Amino acid sequence: MSAEGSLIPNVVQNGLCAGCGLCEAVADPGVIQMRISSEGYLRPKQQAPLSASQARVLADACPGAHVGHAPARSGASAPAYHPLWGPLVGVRAGHSLDAEIRRQGSSGGGISAVAAWLLESGQVDFIAQIAVSRDDPLRNDLQVSTTRADILAAAGSRYAPSAPLAGLRQLLERGQRFAFVGKPCDVAALRRYGLHDPRVGELVVAMISFMCAGIPSLHGTHELLAKLGADRKQLKSFRYRGDGWPGMARAVQHDGQVFETDYNSSWGTVLNRHLQFRCKICPDGTGEFADIVCADAWYGKDGYPDFAERDGRSLILSRTAVGESLVTRAMAAGALAADTLPADDIARMQPYQVNRKQMVLGRVIATWLARRQAPRYRRLALLRNTLNARKVEWLRNAWGTFRRAKGESL
Ligand SMILES: Cc1cc2nc3c(=O)[nH]c(=O)nc-3n(C[C@H](O)[C@H](O)[C@H](O)COP(=O)(O)OP(=O)(O)OC[C@H]3O[C@@H](n4cnc5c(N)ncnc54)[C@H](O)[C@@H]3O)c2cc1C
Repeated sequence: MSAEGSLIPNVVQNGLCAGCGLCEAVADPGVIQMRISSEGYLRPKQQAPLSASQARVLADACPGAHVGHAPARSGASAPAYHPLWGPLVGVRAGHSLDAEIRRQGSSGGGISAVAAWLLESGQVDFIAQIAVSRDDPLRNDLQVSTTRADILAAAGSRYAPSAPLAGLRQLLERGQRFAFVGKPCDVAALRRYGLHDPRVGELVVAMISFMCAGIPSLHGTHELLAKLGADRKQLKSFRYRGDGWPGMARAVQHDGQVFETDYNSSWGTVLNRHLQFRCKICPDGTGEFADIVCADAWYGKDGYPDFAERDGRSLILSRTAVGESLVTRAMAAGALAADTLPADDIARMQPYQVNRKQMVLGRVIATWLARRQAPRYRRLALLRNTLNARKVEWLRNAWGTFRRAKGESL
């Protein structure tokens, strides 16, 4: 098979597929469909080869093949690049001023607040985002949101596979302005794809993301439901969190029974043990390619987040001039309240992401040593972060990845 023809099998077999769905949108209609694999992840099912030009676009934009910032253009003013946190224009903590959005949102409803304001002020025709499927309370589908009610329905994190870019072709064919909300890998892929398709620059008013610790397999959700004692065949609804901060994982059955557990147990003891391999070697847990990124602005205890139930608070990073303008205008319009923070405060709220960025180069090297492939990562300050890492932990992480990459089918 030619290098172009083998791109998708290579990405999938090496455990590098993030499950974003870009390949489905780039291929001719019907050639690729994103499906849940036997391991519980969204993976492309390919019926026919890609054309040479489609394969070239994917080799550049698929986040299983390549993630990186473009080289700085001489004379162009780029935002300051923080080695841990990427491009930073504004650093704030705050929340939606709409009490319902704040409560239903995952942290402070920052993403939903900006999305609802963009819609209601007529700056976009729709928001492309992930929401629970109408047919299955455990599945995530792309939703075209045109009302505040749609945005509220999509609020809250869904710790399960999502492929928002699978529908990108249809989104762009609408010819309307929209904001895109997705995982960091989705946004990295869309940003890069925009270099090949001018409609992205013309129609996508904002790319919004959240910090991401990785996508768990759907099997993680099944395990969580079993632990709760819920019957997944009887589910009426299921949410992972939100409705409070962090809020409870909550399963409601058709017979009225309700099962709940807190974030520490759901994410901390079940879901985070089911992450796909690509997420373990992800260099961009913080959404470096987005205009705006929200995350949990956790309060700390002994240097670590305490996850006690409180009124929601989002960390809000603007990474581009577009993002900064949207955040400040959303604040002026009364959609969002936020206070500026020093960039050094982010590490206290997101210690996991500090560790991740410091470990990733070791994990990538270990993957190569295990004779597996890894994506090409460019201009992400990985070497600089490695030099700041604790050496024993770095080696332990690399060794763990080596063993996993050597022993497992990814
Ligand atoms: C898999 C995953 C891992 C995460 N890891 C971290 C982390 O390490 N640190 C951290 O601070 N925060 C993490 N979060 C994000 C965090 O939970 C909040 O989403 C973030 O604080 C934004 O909160 P908000 O109140 O502004 O979002 P909301 O206003 O609730 O909006 C959330 C948005 O995220 C979208 N969304 C939800 N689930 C998915 C999904 N699976 N795929 C694509 N889009 C989705 C929704 O469509 C909605 O637009 C993670 C979220 C997910 C889904």
